[in-house]
Amino acid sequence: MFDSHCHYDDHAFDEDRYEVLDRLLKEPGSPVDKVCHAATDENSSLFGIETALKYDNFYTSVGFHPECMDTLPEDYMTKLEELYVKACATHKLVAVGEIGLDYHYEGYDKEAQIRLFDHQIEFAVKKSLPVIVHCREATQDCLDVLNNYVPSGVVHCFSGSAETAKQVIGLGMYIGFTGALAFKNAKKARRALEEVPMDRLLLETDCPYMAPPPYRGQRCESYMIEEVAKVVAEIKELDPQEVLDITNRNACRLFGIEYKKG
Ligand SMILES: [Zn+2]
Repeated sequence: MFDSHCHYDDHAFDEDRYEVLDRLLKEPGSPVDKVCHAATDENSSLFGIETALKYDNFYTSVGFHPECMDTLPEDYMTKLEELYVKACATHKLVAVGEIGLDYHYEGYDKEAQIRLFDHQIEFAVKKSLPVIVHCREATQDCLDVLNNYVPSGVVHCFSGSAETAKQVIGLGMYIGFTGALAFKNAKKARRALEEVPMDRLLLETDCPYMAPPPYRGQRCESYMIEEVAKVVAEIKELDPQEVLDITNRNACRLFGIEYKKG
């Protein structure tokens, strides 16, 4: 399985970060094949770069999340270029992200978010890298920016409608589903999934968040995407292992990684 979106730099992993990663990525027989770190700011990008050097199957992105506006450096594009150069040296840089728009918290600065998103997408397109897009309560503005650039990439932790899913697919992008798909009240997400062809689907944990049942309430880890695969399998009438194989291959295709089965 390929966990296409995770945050092992989160404080939830402070106590045992490398034990967890060793277990997932180095232990023989681990079901987890690869993970992609979704960077959220400068330190998070540096964590991704450092960790990509430690683990063969740990891939990384660099970028500034809309929720990091408060600590965003003024010269963020210079910083992004520096991070890009450092990350390229690892040969494990696969995307710019996670970037996007988030209007969930009160007091957000819409214009500043759109500017940051716009600059980073433009950067990704110039560097021929896919984008990892975060979109919360900002669907139309997100689609407007994406329509301007038509980047390759994924809209992660998809929470939109079936109609929005169609539009994202129409742009040629991928859609990522987390453990939230397995929540009891996930009717809207399941409807959206019906619109997503199997060759455009990615699985992710967004860990440490969104642990699917039966792990709900626990710290999430990459192996839990098996539960997401089970829900997809049910809806798409496939075998869960087939879902894991297809989505692994999809992530490899999007991120430019050689796909090897097993
Ligand atoms: Zn994330």
